[in-house]
Amino acid sequence: KERVKMERLSKVYPNGTVAVQDVNVSISEGEFLCFVGPSGCGKSTIFKMITGLSSPTDGTLHVMGTSPKQARKQSDTAFVFQEHTLLPWMSIIDNVGLPLALRGASRKERRQEAERVLELVGLKDYTKSMPRQLSGGMKMRASIARALVSKPKLLLMDEPFAALDEITRQTLQRELLDIWSKDKEMTVLFITHNVFEAVFLSTRIVVMTPRPGKVAAIESVRVPFP
Ligand code: ADP
Ligand code: ADP
Repeated sequence: KERVKMERLSKVYPNGTVAVQDVNVSISEGEFLCFVGPSGCGKSTIFKMITGLSSPTDGTLHVMGTSPKQARKQSDTAFVFQEHTLLPWMSIIDNVGLPLALRGASRKERRQEAERVLELVGLKDYTKSMPRQLSGGMKMRASIARALVSKPKLLLMDEPFAALDEITRQTLQRELLDIWSKDKEMTVLFITHNVFEAVFLSTRIVVMTPRPGKVAAIESVRVPFP
């Protein structure tokens, strides 16, 4: 089953910058695929197109069998960004349950499901905390929990661990692999400029080069470390 399909995907910004040129990549169910490359190679541009925030200037892009804008509205697609996106005035459990609240889930279901994913990311003792009371790594864990709460089939992550210290990053990488390896249907598309991170995490790596942003190589990696 194809989760993301890019065909001759290209993006030229209005000022003439060719940010992405002729990218052909298909991502299947269950893959953990990393886009890796130096600053300026078009990673964020690809991410913005997949999340429907920016439109391709050429080629086609399908996400979960539909358009990126449509996919964004579906609960089977979830995002995690470099910055946590928790709402500061809501407790951790309310933040994490928010996607379910927006879909009209009952209070009980929200609490149960939020507790389930908070346990997965090691935050079960912090359900009543406010975001400002948590460290950077814990806020990122909570953001990941919120992405997982609606049981997404496609998890899109843009440099989620870039702002964390090395130790926290390694811990969260392991936790993410653990969560992914327990769900055979979950596909992860992960963007990073860190080659080590890409090799450690992925089943397949897409290496990008800048000016213009092109695919330099696509390599299969061993099944990631469990
Ligand atoms: P990365 O995320 O890999 O650092 P980007 O996708 O941000 O790469 O950028 C790819 C190229 O497109 C760079 O040359 C960048 O300066 C340029 N760029 C990014 N966003 C815009 C924009 N909105 N308008 C014009 N050029 C842009
Ligand atoms: P869309 O494709 O949906 O029309 P864009 O991604 O082209 O939207 O727009 C992104 C915005 O970022 C534009 O308003 C653009 O002017 C602005 N921008 C211009 N140059 C850069 C740059 N080098 N890096 C980041 N943003 C830029």
